[in-house]
Amino acid sequence: MTERIYYNDSYQTEFRAHVLESLEDGRRLYLDRTAFYPASGGQPHDTGCIDNAMVTDVIEEEDGRIAHVLSTPVEHSDVNCRIDWVRRFDHMQQHSGQHLLSAVLMELFSVETLSFHLGDAASTIDLSVASLEPEQLRAAEARANVIVFENRPLAVEFRDASENLELRKPCERQGKLRIVNIEGLDRSACGGTHVRSTGEVGAVLIRRLEKMRGNLRIEFLCGMRAVRRARLDYEALAEISRSLSASLDETPTLIAVQLRRLNESEKARHRLSIELARMEGAALHDATEPGPDGVRRVSRTIAQGPIDDNLRALAQGFTSRNKAVFAAFVEEPPSLLVAVSAATGLHAGNLLKSLLAGAGGRGGGNAQLAQGSVSSREALERIRGELNG
Ligand SMILES: [Zn+2]
Repeated sequence: MTERIYYNDSYQTEFRAHVLESLEDGRRLYLDRTAFYPASGGQPHDTGCIDNAMVTDVIEEEDGRIAHVLSTPVEHSDVNCRIDWVRRFDHMQQHSGQHLLSAVLMELFSVETLSFHLGDAASTIDLSVASLEPEQLRAAEARANVIVFENRPLAVEFRDASENLELRKPCERQGKLRIVNIEGLDRSACGGTHVRSTGEVGAVLIRRLEKMRGNLRIEFLCGMRAVRRARLDYEALAEISRSLSASLDETPTLIAVQLRRLNESEKARHRLSIELARMEGAALHDATEPGPDGVRRVSRTIAQGPIDDNLRALAQGFTSRNKAVFAAFVEEPPSLLVAVSAATGLHAGNLLKSLLAGAGGRGGGNAQLAQGSVSSREALERIRGELNG
């Protein structure tokens, strides 16, 4: 069995090991001892190098063996190993921060942690509650940071599962357990890598919340991740506040005001554009010569649909005057609109139905205005010919 150096010392980055087995032409090694953490318990694997090869994956196999997957073959029977400390320490901060946050949420609100995931950008904890109030989250974040400042020891001990271990979360494993202990706060069974005192976790920052089938997922960042994220957040907010010529703290209110104004002016613009289309329709009526039967007819072709309020308003403006028929043919999606004035004695809805009947289209309307769609441009062309001929 491989000796797991990280069980007793998460800070050892370099070690020498003997190769117990080599597979895949020296690209998959099993060692007598390792400091490489394999992906498990929500924490990703370490990277680093074995001799001159890069370690690209570390896998805990079902029988408990640890496979080191390499970029290039290694042929020696004794090897020099080094883990990527920047990546490892970041993982130790996020993972220890998770113990801290989970403990604080239990302490303050009796909220249980169901699972943990340490991601590339952010980490998440799934909680056994449907929601938390913003002030509860602020309180948990503040309490976690206070414990960081207190720099409490965070120690590992091995105890037998049969003892009274007073764990935050009961552990179903039997035999020897690895207990991670935050002084005066938390005891959890865990095989991951942790810092040795809470001060090393650095800042703890809770961010997004997401509801997940009756549970709550909270996203958090610790250490340098929290600092980097706070910097990005500041820069984004500063750019927005600059463009609004407002202070950072005034920005959210100002944006709400601007959005309301934008909404109002969009409604006003829509109203005016409909009014304008109606007037254009009426002017078009005046500029159109009546046919021998005294009916003024206009047929429009429009390349791109859909039929919208403006087109309907234009048609209604045109047919609001004496004896008028307005038709519009939209090529994409193939559709048409028919409007008639009452003085023609025609019924737009019935007229449209009779036009669509031969073309297999769908649609309807009232006496003055109707619209419908057909399956193809060819069908649309046939209807146009029928109406204009
Ligand atoms: Zn842990």
